[in-house]
Amino acid sequence: VTNTSAPEEIDVLVIGSGAGGGVAALEIARSGRTVVLVEMGRVGGECHYVSCVPSKALLIAAREGVTWDEALRRRDEAADGRSDSAAVREHEKAGVQIVRGTARVTGDHDVAITFDEEGERVFRWAKALVLAPGSEPVIPRVPGLALEMTWTSEQALSSDELPSDLLVMGGGAVGCEMAQIYAAFGTQVTLVEKTDRLLAGEQPWVGELVAANLRASGVNVRAGVEATQVEHRENVRVEFSDNSRWSGDRVLLAGGRTPRTAGLGLELLGISLGDKNEIPVDARCHVMIENSPAEGVYAVGDVTATAPFTHTANAQARTVAGDLDGAGRDVQLHASPRVVYTEATVWCVGLTEQKAREARLQPRSASIDLSQVERGTLEGFKGRFELIADEHGTAIGAAAVGSGADSWATSAQLAVQFGLHVERLGDTLFAFPTLAEAVGLAARELAASG
Ligand SMILES: Cc1cc2nc3c(=O)[nH]c(=O)nc-3n(C[C@H](O)[C@H](O)[C@H](O)COP(=O)(O)OP(=O)(O)OC[C@H]3O[C@@H](n4cnc5c(N)ncnc54)[C@H](O)[C@@H]3O)c2cc1C
Repeated sequence: VTNTSAPEEIDVLVIGSGAGGGVAALEIARSGRTVVLVEMGRVGGECHYVSCVPSKALLIAAREGVTWDEALRRRDEAADGRSDSAAVREHEKAGVQIVRGTARVTGDHDVAITFDEEGERVFRWAKALVLAPGSEPVIPRVPGLALEMTWTSEQALSSDELPSDLLVMGGGAVGCEMAQIYAAFGTQVTLVEKTDRLLAGEQPWVGELVAANLRASGVNVRAGVEATQVEHRENVRVEFSDNSRWSGDRVLLAGGRTPRTAGLGLELLGISLGDKNEIPVDARCHVMIENSPAEGVYAVGDVTATAPFTHTANAQARTVAGDLDGAGRDVQLHASPRVVYTEATVWCVGLTEQKAREARLQPRSASIDLSQVERGTLEGFKGRFELIADEHGTAIGAAAVGSGADSWATSAQLAVQFGLHVERLGDTLFAFPTLAEAVGLAARELAASG
């Protein structure tokens, strides 16, 4: 593609319109700057159409016991039928100029956008470039695996097919949620995870409890095994590292995600990617180039591999807008919650004990079974809450598993965010009889043992 016309001059160019870039564009446009938002797919990014929102719609439908057809209807309604016209309207109303196409950096301040194979526009930004291209699924290297025959979460959450036998590869948040959904609608689900437990980044008991819950929902959970060979015939046959086999009609790849950086031309800006293939950033989301924050170049969202969630991408986007206004504050990500919306929700925040030890802290923890609080007994809820403190008694992390944990456990998040001493958290009054009493009980137990 050749382009001879002069670049179009603007203040800010944002690549990617998801939870990171879309929100950054809206926030920056408030200040009256000219903002161009480039999107090669759907305006609004993944969360609304093919990840968070449709998966939660299906999980809620599964809990309510509706039919598969009704669940699909609700999923598609929640995702606006995967039409981005509402998101386009919202951005245009805020004064953001949307340009559809694929962006690539072509110079210090220049970005070329290609569209319809032949067309190209070049923009020259004066004030800021925001890189927000998101992430993509990691594709495992298994001999015989044919990608056109397998699903990623995106395809699963867009398809109407209800497989009779499904193999989910990967026991992280996405794998657990997808296994929960399909098992609820009658699919025979096998979930394999190559490490020795599900949700391997959390406190060990969390993954064990989730595995037990998934088994109770009919999922065949197999930790410590991985696929070594795949054969696609009239069905799919998979061989595992322990020589066992599986055959069925679908394989869903849920082995994690990696920043989407290929083809962006980042090398022209001198950006070197980090160990996780991420664009390295400082606390104001400036891209780090040779250990210094680059003037006017920012990155937000999954591409920064800090905490791959919508709420973190949103927070980073607000930080960029604040920084450009000159009154910004650093983004605080140490208390970004990690939630898995399985039956018995998982809600974790801050450090695990292992991460705390890696940071040379001496963690202590107190764990409360939900049957120890009156509401848990009254409702027959199963689950647990655990609070983690450092050697000084400061709250540094928490983990909860149980119905509604993403609501009742969240007071621990403020304690971690603001470094509250467990004694003060324990002095806080939690209403009787609520599950939140488990937070107070754990805090008092930790305070007493310190
Ligand atoms: C199944 C699943 C469930 C999830 N559930 C939750 C949840 O419940 N809660 C939660 O907080 N998080 C959840 N997440 C994570 C969440 O979806 C992501 O953290 C979030 O969407 C990241 O936003 P982003 O802006 O970084 O990327 P995206 O939303 O992916 O946006 C990036 C956009 O950039 C565009 N793009 C990329 N490169 C270019 C280019 N060169 N030119 C033009 N456009 C480009 C892409 O088309 C894309 O639209 C889930 C993820 C998955 C996979």
